[in-house]
Formats: sequence, C-alpha cells, structure tokens
Amino acid sequence: MSRFFNKKYINLDPYTPGEQPKDMEYIKLNTNESPFDTPPKASELAALEAYKLRLYSDPEMRDLKDVASRYFGVDKDELIFTNGSDEALYMAVMAFCDEGCGAAFPDITYSFYPVICNMNCVEYEQIPLKDDLTIDIEDYYNLKKTIFIANPNAPTGIALKKSEIEEIVKYNPNNVVIVDEAYVDFGTESSLSLTKKYDNVLVVQTFSKSRGLAGGRLGFAIGNKELIKDLNTLRNSFNPYNVNRMTLAAGIGALMDDEYVEANCAKIIKTRNEMRDELKKLGFKMTDSKANFIFARHPDAKGEYLYKELKNRGILVRHFNSAGIEDYVRITIGTNEQMAALLKELSDIL
Ligand SMILES: *Cc1c(COP(=O)(O)O)cnc(C)c1O
Repeated sequence: MSRFFNKKYINLDPYTPGEQPKDMEYIKLNTNESPFDTPPKASELAALEAYKLRLYSDPEMRDLKDVASRYFGVDKDELIFTNGSDEALYMAVMAFCDEGCGAAFPDITYSFYPVICNMNCVEYEQIPLKDDLTIDIEDYYNLKKTIFIANPNAPTGIALKKSEIEEIVKYNPNNVVIVDEAYVDFGTESSLSLTKKYDNVLVVQTFSKSRGLAGGRLGFAIGNKELIKDLNTLRNSFNPYNVNRMTLAAGIGALMDDEYVEANCAKIIKTRNEMRDELKKLGFKMTDSKANFIFARHPDAKGEYLYKELKNRGILVRHFNSAGIEDYVRITIGTNEQMAALLKELSDIL
C-alpha cells in the first residue's frame, strides 16, 4: 500500500475472481462461463465496430436499447446497460443504500455484495440460510434495508419462485429489492414482470452466463423509470461511456441470435440433469441447482481436496473457504466431453 492510499479503503478485502492459471490448458469449470461459442451474430457485429474504435460509443446506447426494450417488453427508460452486471449492482449500492439504510442479503450468496458495500461504507446484514441452504422468505419481511437476492442464489443454485420474490417486495414497500438474475435463463421464472407492478424492485441480468459474452462485459438493470433515472445519474457522473462500441454491438447480436442462445441453455439444463444422476451414483450430495453449475459435496472427500486433486488433473472447479459451504465444490456445466472428463477423474479420485 502506498502512503497516499485513501484511509477509507485501507481495510478493503477485494472480491476474488475465479482463478485463470496459464501454466497449462485446463478444462475450465470454475467461473460459470458458457462452454459454447459466442453467438455468431454477436461476434460479427462486434468485429465491424472494431474498425470504428476512434469514435466514442453512444452514451445513450440507443440501438441496443431499441432491440432490448422490444425483446424484454419494457420501455427504454425502464432499462440501463452496464459494464457487466457487477457494475449495475455496484451502482445500486451507491444509489439505494446510505447511512440511514444499509443492505441485507443471505449469509451465503454472491460474495461480491459485501465487497461493494464495504467499498461504499454501507453497513450490511447477512441473513443465515436454513440448514438445507434454502432461503426463508419471512426473514426478509419488513427489513427496512435495501435487499439483494440472487435468484437463483449463488453458489447454491437454489431458486425462489416469482411469487416468493413478490412477497419480499410487498413486505418492503419503502425499500428497493434488487433481484440478481445472473442465472435466470437456466430454468427459473424471472421477476421482470414485477417491475411493472412495483416501484421498488430492480431486476439485474447479465449477458455473461447464458448469452456467452462474459468477456464483453455487458449487464443491465430493469425497473421503474425513476429507479433507472437514479442509476443513470450515477452512471453519467462517473463513466457515461461505460459500455464500449464492440460490446454494444455484440449485445444486439446476442439478442438477434436468440434461438442459438436458447438452444445452448436447453443443452446446459439437459447436461445438468444428467450430471446430477452421474454424480449421485458416485455418492455426491447436491443442492437443487437451477443454474449453469452444480453445487456438490461428497461425504468421503473434502471440498478443498476435490478441488486440488481435480486441478492437478487439469480440471478447474471452484471451492469456497467460507463457513457452511467448505465441503462443497461448484462445478460449471460444460460440454458433454468436458463432463465426461470430469466424471472420469472424479471416479478415479474417489
Ligand atoms: C456472474 C455473476 C454476476 C455478474 O456477472 P457480470 O459478468 O458482471 O455480468 C452477478 N451476480 C451473480 C450472482 C453472478 O454469479
């Protein structure tokens, strides 16, 4: 640390992204990327923009908003695009949490939430999951805090129903409820329609997982237009060109390639269900994941051991050293070939 570093940040404990080692070719099942090619139209449109990088991107993102507002059935002023959905989550903390109103989220969830709260000096409450790693929605009634719910949750993959999200929204009429739907396209009902009915719900989604654009960095939030206006005020105060030209075009392409994206999601869901059966045969216990990953533990092998052994054999999975989930590994659903390789190594290890 330099002697100039702002005192308010000296105790920051930054988010740890999944590792990207370069010492050999790994089968990467640790960051929930799509195992399939980028949607072809996305690559094609982005490539054309690569020749126009001399020019700033459109700060109002009109072309992408035109396509997306039709696609999601919302008005353009109910929608904001961000540099990955992490940026939307960050701006939501900035916009809707302050000294009077902290944040609340489950104790086991996306580990970025506590980081962005700390970064903004926002206090947060971590609400314990039940023993089976599910959320008790009544724990979220009348909290008087800004609520962050990943649905499906990460890294458990367990989803709430839209009606359950609606209860949380209804019971917190004077606070914003942020529903982080990073994995919604793998079989969970979206809460998008709630944004028409309630002025206190913000749905955040990403192109990183189901749409195969993790490296493009494109996320978005949908909500009541006043909420979106607040987020735009912040965006225009620190980075009005937050999404670059190539990524704006890639976003349009990914929405045009809808059939390709949907077919890939269907493949992931199918492989996920098959993998559950195979892992069960090997003795694994799993949560009911509705995401593009499986969250599994084995009674005879610790999570860290499985992670290390798999890494030695060229397969990366994610292990979290946090209370309550140390025994688990999170395995991204890959191609059938990748899954076959994983199963072979796992049965060997066990
Ligand atoms: C991956 C992920 C995100 C953010 O992804 P971006 O790449 O920043 O869009 C947000 N929330 C959860 C729960 C995630 O797993």
